[in-house]
Amino acid sequence: MSAASILSGPLAPGATIGILGGGQLGRMLALAAARLGFKTHIYSDETESCAFNVATARTRARYDDHRALGEFAAVCDLVTFEFENVPDGTAQYLADHVPVAPNSRALSIAQDRFVEKSFIAGLGIATASFRNVESETDAAEAFRALGGPAVLKTRTLGYDGKGQRIVGSAEEAARAYAEHQGVPAILEKFVDFAFEASIVATRGRDGSFLAYDPPKNEHENHILRRSTVPAPLTSAAVDEAVAIARRIAEALDYVGVLGVELFIGKNGEIAVNEIAPRVHNSGHWTIEACVVSQFEQHIRAVAGWPLGGSMRHSNAVMENIIGAEVEDWVALAGREAGLHIYGKRIVRPGRKMGHITKLSPLFP
Ligand code: AMP
Repeated sequence: MSAASILSGPLAPGATIGILGGGQLGRMLALAAARLGFKTHIYSDETESCAFNVATARTRARYDDHRALGEFAAVCDLVTFEFENVPDGTAQYLADHVPVAPNSRALSIAQDRFVEKSFIAGLGIATASFRNVESETDAAEAFRALGGPAVLKTRTLGYDGKGQRIVGSAEEAARAYAEHQGVPAILEKFVDFAFEASIVATRGRDGSFLAYDPPKNEHENHILRRSTVPAPLTSAAVDEAVAIARRIAEALDYVGVLGVELFIGKNGEIAVNEIAPRVHNSGHWTIEACVVSQFEQHIRAVAGWPLGGSMRHSNAVMENIIGAEVEDWVALAGREAGLHIYGKRIVRPGRKMGHITKLSPLFP
């Protein structure tokens, strides 16, 4: 670790927090940081980042532009990330110039599905059975070893189901690999889960750890549609899920908010699908249903502040507003729910344009 990456004490209000990435997660982080008196500086390679509109300062430059990164680091007291696919060199360059959290190791592990699953399995935590695939022969052999059906995924850069194929035979697995044009892949056994859930947890600079209640997550077309808390989990299963997230956070010496995506089996057994080293879509309901949201919690953690109350005072259902659904904003605004519109100018099918959280108070 370089000297620059060590924050000497808690960051005082008035300091500038740099956020790499300019999407809705960066936007909501900037809004939460502002509430605590921080300034924010968004660095994004997109012209129209929706986080630009709510930040104190902005840089538009490529993620490998070391001159721009150097200037950004010089005006920030601390840098954090809102997406995991930060190029390794970028995270390392920043860490050499400014305190950074979470650390670049957590980012690089989460970027590669094979490395990530090997890391999780190495901690003794259940995952889908998996094999590394670097050729058509590997793909066919992996299928024979795992049994079908299976899912072929690119090792890097896939999200929201991009770069994924369900395959039912060794031949199909080999063909799917060839269609990925030889990009390194992972073959996973298809998990016949009862439902999906997640843990959104926070680890502070002092090792303190808090987790929100796990939501049940429903996807449509591979995109998160809805997160509901509480999830239909026993308290023993919730404890196990929280312990899993804690083990991962501690093994990574993680600082900040971390999402851990889970498959819940028919008998309540838990397997980890993947880690998101950042605030997570399935934690958006915490803005309305908890005293301290995941966004504020992340800012508190990276700034070296005490973590805040992550207890849930309401049941909640968060739904993403996807693509053209945002055009119905008048009807959405009439739903007596917490409405968030990200201010993205271009509407595209499948694009997350906002979200809405309906509460039902636990203490009416
Ligand atoms: P991922 O890109 O790995 O997060 O996967 C996206 C979604 O695909 C997950 O949320 C699941 O709904 C589904 N999925 C991924 N891997 C598997 C698997 N091994 N078995 C069953 N469904 C999966």
